[in-house]
Amino acid sequence: MRWTPEAEKAVERVPFFVRKRVRKRVEEEAFRSNAKLVRIEHVQRCKERYLNRMEDEVKGYQVETCFGPSGCPNRAIGDDEIAGLIEERISRRDWRAFLEGRVRGTLKMHHEFRVSVSDCPNACSRPQIADVGLLGAREPALTDETCSRCDACVEVCREAALSLPEDAARPVLDTERCLFCGQCIDVCPTGTLREARRGYRIVVGGKLGRHPRLATPLQGIHDREQALEWLDRCLDFYRDRSERGERLGEILNRTGLDALTEVEKGAEGSRRKKTGSGRHS
Ligand code: SF4
Ligand code: SF4
Ligand code: SF4
Repeated sequence: MRWTPEAEKAVERVPFFVRKRVRKRVEEEAFRSNAKLVRIEHVQRCKERYLNRMEDEVKGYQVETCFGPSGCPNRAIGDDEIAGLIEERISRRDWRAFLEGRVRGTLKMHHEFRVSVSDCPNACSRPQIADVGLLGAREPALTDETCSRCDACVEVCREAALSLPEDAARPVLDTERCLFCGQCIDVCPTGTLREARRGYRIVVGGKLGRHPRLATPLQGIHDREQALEWLDRCLDFYRDRSERGERLGEILNRTGLDALTEVEKGAEGSRRKKTGSGRHS
């Protein structure tokens, strides 16, 4: 739906973490009045109807996505279902009621548990400030296919993770610099670079507020099922340790990241006992 500049400007003043939700409500308001264009009066009517009763809108969690599903060419992973699956997993837990039991006073939007999914390392949905952030990742690997030394992979890599020394038969990949965007794989004409893994990198415990904290990365690249298992683990970890509805990052500051990853090691151990096998992530 198109917006007038005046209406756009009015919504820009809304805090970013509720802006998407407010935009949706304003568009619903315009739709109810059979308008094809969102105007300032729709924003004002919506403000009266919705913004003054914001606590009714608090559901205890938020799931944000980037614009990848709308056709962004940078997507490292194209999973259009993961946001819905995340939403489903959290909503099953009756998270609002749980948080209301922990928070002192009224439950507000800043108490909500936030999950953010970005389909590539550009991180447009800001996973670094979410409780759980997923970043689409494709890991490149060098194969034995003959390299034509076309230099395309070196040119496309914005991280300078690939170099092509004079006397080398194929590029050198610096895995410490690589952000797993997968662009070098797509431009390689010979198959010398191929995709080794595709999935999500996971970051946990990000937040803004009085004491901002950038999310801490977990190791590895995780497929959809593993990423959802990590989400469950983070929710369990949060539920067992939250004292007053503080953000996950504050809990991790108290416990250290190992307290969360140890939960994973314990779960991994019991899975191995049950299945008699190991697994990678
Ligand atoms: S995070 Fe990547 S895939 Fe998503 S909108 Fe931004 S650039 Fe596109
Ligand atoms: S995946 Fe992206 S960051 Fe990594 S080497 Fe390739 S182009 Fe560079
Ligand atoms: S690895 Fe592929 S893209 Fe890179 S120089 Fe060789 S042929 Fe070109």
